[in-house]
Amino acid sequence: MACRTDDVIERAERWGAHNYHPLPVVLTKAEGPFVWDIEGKKYLDMLSCYSALSHGHCNPRIIEAAKRQMGEITLTSRAFHNEPYSLFCEKLAKLAGLDMVLPMNSGAEAVESALKIARCWGYRVKKVQQDKAQILAAEGNFHGRTIAIVSFSTEQDYRVPFGPPAAGFGIVPYGDPEALEKAITPNTVAFLVEPIQGEGGIILPPEGYLKRVREICAKHNILMMLDEVQTGLARTGKMFAFQHEEVKPDVLILGKALGGGLLPVSACVGTKEVMSVLKPGEHGSTFGGMPLSMTVANEAIDILVEEDLSNRADRLGKKAIETLRAANLEGVQEVRGRGLLIGVQFEDFIGGAMRVVEALMHKGVLAKDTRVDTMRLAPALTIEEADLDAAVETVIETIREVAKARRG
Ligand code: PLP
Repeated sequence: MACRTDDVIERAERWGAHNYHPLPVVLTKAEGPFVWDIEGKKYLDMLSCYSALSHGHCNPRIIEAAKRQMGEITLTSRAFHNEPYSLFCEKLAKLAGLDMVLPMNSGAEAVESALKIARCWGYRVKKVQQDKAQILAAEGNFHGRTIAIVSFSTEQDYRVPFGPPAAGFGIVPYGDPEALEKAITPNTVAFLVEPIQGEGGIILPPEGYLKRVREICAKHNILMMLDEVQTGLARTGKMFAFQHEEVKPDVLILGKALGGGLLPVSACVGTKEVMSVLKPGEHGSTFGGMPLSMTVANEAIDILVEEDLSNRADRLGKKAIETLRAANLEGVQEVRGRGLLIGVQFEDFIGGAMRVVEALMHKGVLAKDTRVDTMRLAPALTIEEADLDAAVETVIETIREVAKARRG
């Protein structure tokens, strides 16, 4: 007789589009860093919805705030004002040390918004000739899945089947400020970059990269736009990853954890000069800025600050990385990361990170690969130290077993 897991998966396979390749586990319940499958088995979630669950699953403060707001008003549209929106804009602008905020829903939408703002700034402020604006992005980037965004993806699978690519984008190598400077033309209006490439395989640029990028952008009058959808909001051990190098972008893009693990909430945050290029009617979103999302995001930000989750991510992340490196594991090429955004890259003989990921699932730890050879570890920032220690031990034990089996 087929188990409930098989039933659910078969129905999804039959009726759902096949744009993901999920692990064969059906999740039905969650609390903090833990999830339970439909058969009742408990797992530690080391993926955290690609860092969107930094507050842990079903964080009681966030659920409570949402319930309170649901008894009042949930959706207004931006045709009218609502108080949670005004509080959110002030709170997030101050947190980032910037001036103005534009709320959206998904990360990709916030990136699209930033691209539109950059072009608009290029025409209205920098005085680039209409339709000539160029935006540079980095090799290995991941900024989402819209037509414009995949146009400048360097990953074939993301871009090629969806051509023709949108015009007006250029690519420079990641982590190489001199190559960026060389690529800039009088029509360049912005450089869009991730402080750490998350989907690209947890790639850290050389130290001082963001500082040099900041200088180059200022020198050539182009906008520095940081996509911190994955790295932002305490994940890397600072509230924003740009704070590791004490620079400030012109536009900061946030998403994922901004929704507290409950709702899709994203935002562009920027300087007044840049953000005020948008005039009424030129950009918008039906759900962006809705009272329910804004209340959830306000609570999510308060939790990060009040519970000092940046320092927690920094401390626990350093310990986890040190433990993984000290284990000196056969089959592991590199352990890298910052805060609780950690990548474990495997040597070829392991046969891809999925082998380790699948073995981990059987031992009650859920993780996922980013690129074929690298496994990402990104637990909730609220995880108890003992739970993280136990998960790291399971990871070490599992890698040992997989490496031994692969060596034969
Ligand atoms: N930007 C970065 C750096 C991301 O990691 C992601 C998602 O992984 C996105 C943008 C897109 O976010 P969303 O999937 O919410 O559209």
